[in-house]
Formats: sequence, C-alpha cells, structure tokens
Amino acid sequence: MATLTQSLTKAQIRKLMKILQDKAAEIRGNLDASRAGRALIGEQTSNLEDLPVQSHEEWIFLNRNSIDVMLLREIHEALDRVEDGSFGTCSECDEEISTKRLNAIPWARHCIGCQEELAAIEEEAKMAETPRKR
Ligand SMILES: [Zn+2]
Repeated sequence: MATLTQSLTKAQIRKLMKILQDKAAEIRGNLDASRAGRALIGEQTSNLEDLPVQSHEEWIFLNRNSIDVMLLREIHEALDRVEDGSFGTCSECDEEISTKRLNAIPWARHCIGCQEELAAIEEEAKMAETPRKR
C-alpha cells in the first residue's frame, strides 16, 4: 500500500541539506552562548549523565541544552546519511520516509509508522521508570 515511490530528487536533498546545516549552525550558536553548552560540546556529549549537577536551575538549564545537543547529533547523523546515500530511508523498515515528513523534520530517521511505534515503546518505558507519586 505504501509503495508510491517518490524518491527525493537531488534538488530536494540539497534543499534539506541546507536546512540541516542552517539548523545545526543555529543550535551551535545557541549552545555557544551558554556556559553549559560550551561544557557539553567540549566534552564527549554522550556522557550527559556524568555532569555534576549543581542546583535545580542548573539542572533545568543543562536539560534544555542536552535536548539541543541531542538534536545537533541527529542533524549530524542525517548529514552523514546524505553522504552515504541512505538519507530519506527509514532505518527501521527500509521504506522511504515521505517527503512531507522530511520537509517537516529533515533529520527524521524513521518513517511515520516506525516513529509512532518507537514513541509508544519509549512512552511505556518512561511510565515504568517514573512511578506515579501520590
Ligand atoms: Zn519505518
């Protein structure tokens, strides 16, 4: 049913690449503007949990920045996929990600179907992790 092949044209990929690069530059600019951002970018960004937590405010600050760092990483991975030619293909089921979805989220790694499944699994994991307080 989902095989209306609408492969991305080179021009479309170039356009999305530009969006990815601009977005990456924007995030880097934001992070540069912040002390914590510099710390995060200087360090290996995979060890966010190891950062010392000073205060509640700082925690929120770091948390906000770590979302940016994660997004930045996804953008870089998307640009890598442009390089190796796998851009626009779902890494889960190998179906093409719709152009509409890529225009909305150029760094999307999964097609909408897989994304929804993964989100549901993540949501369940989160629920299990944080027992409701009462
Ligand atoms: Zn998929």
